[in-house]
Amino acid sequence: MSGPADFPIYLDHHSTTPCDPRVLEKMLPFFSERFGNPAAVTHAQGRQASTALEEARSVVADFIRARPTEIYFTSGATEANNIAIRGVAVRQPGHVITTAIEHKSVLAPVEQLAGIEVTRLRPDPEGFVSAEQVREALRPETFLVSVIAANGEIGTIQPLQEIASVCREHGVVFHTDATQAIGRIPFDVNAIGCDLASMSAHKVYGPKGIGALYVRKGVRISPLVVGGGQERNLRSGTVNLPGVIGLAEALKYRSDEMAGEAARLTALRNLMWDRVTGEIELASVNGPRGLRLPGNLNFSFARVDSEALMMSMRRFSLSSGSACSAGEKDPSYVLRAIGVPEDLAMSSIRVGLGRMNTEEQVNQFVDDLQVSVSRLREISV
Ligand code: PMP
Repeated sequence: MSGPADFPIYLDHHSTTPCDPRVLEKMLPFFSERFGNPAAVTHAQGRQASTALEEARSVVADFIRARPTEIYFTSGATEANNIAIRGVAVRQPGHVITTAIEHKSVLAPVEQLAGIEVTRLRPDPEGFVSAEQVREALRPETFLVSVIAANGEIGTIQPLQEIASVCREHGVVFHTDATQAIGRIPFDVNAIGCDLASMSAHKVYGPKGIGALYVRKGVRISPLVVGGGQERNLRSGTVNLPGVIGLAEALKYRSDEMAGEAARLTALRNLMWDRVTGEIELASVNGPRGLRLPGNLNFSFARVDSEALMMSMRRFSLSSGSACSAGEKDPSYVLRAIGVPEDLAMSSIRVGLGRMNTEEQVNQFVDDLQVSVSRLREISV
């Protein structure tokens, strides 16, 4: 079968992933025969929905080793990040620490905190921030630290455990945007010691429009959306039950399949890395080799415009940075923050390998890339 799912060859799994057919099948009855509102427990349909919701909550909680009462369903990671930042924040005078390489759904709400000072930590050239940097930035009035678990552009996996222990030592709430991490690499809220964590189903072969916020018991947080008091008053609105079922089912499969897939994708990634840097002149990789998301790569090709490169690589679906800022002609702020010069940042492409990708596709990609890069360089002289 050929169709949008397999042509062009999809290499953009950090922007989204296809919903697993097994997940979709599990969701379908919740649109029709099992349509009940989980809050309407005066009748059988509502009670059945409520039971399904709570079962799914337990699955999601187990996956990150949390308790079910610490999981709050949201419309995705954007909303979870907004609740985490705007819900904890209201203390003045106050100070928040974050990084320069957060997703915009953290950067924007932090930007809007009125009367709060913000420190944005600069990562090192591979994208790491350290617990030491957090410690140095702490002030008596700091009440929140938010550090992305794994970056979707350059793949860097942060030392969350060390950062969490600095936060705990100082009684500061620690949030991590774990959207690119949960379901791709092991993530245990107790081993890490974070207080809040955001996740999203569509990055891990689940549906779009559903995510969750983990809130450690005892952390004080207020809602952004008020109304019927669903999700124990933190997120009013009828829960997207088909979505919740999909998130839980996607994570169930991740429990069995994540480790094997991570090993396979790491091998494919290393193959791509070695071939590209070995066979294409002036090619560089942005981000680290170790402590990197399994399927992630980010290349710069000097003297090649990334938009032109993507146009010429039409057999592959790629991105030149975060899809959320696609369409903007600005260089990626993540690449700029790790010190990639502007011209090289404008010459960069991101690859996100996933479950459907094969070694043959990786080889095809590198072969096409060689041809495209040389042709574009010839044209540009
Ligand atoms: N955080 C990160 C790190 C992401 O990659 C994304 C998705 N691009 C989000 C948050 C937003 O997630 P959602 O699409 O579920 O709102």
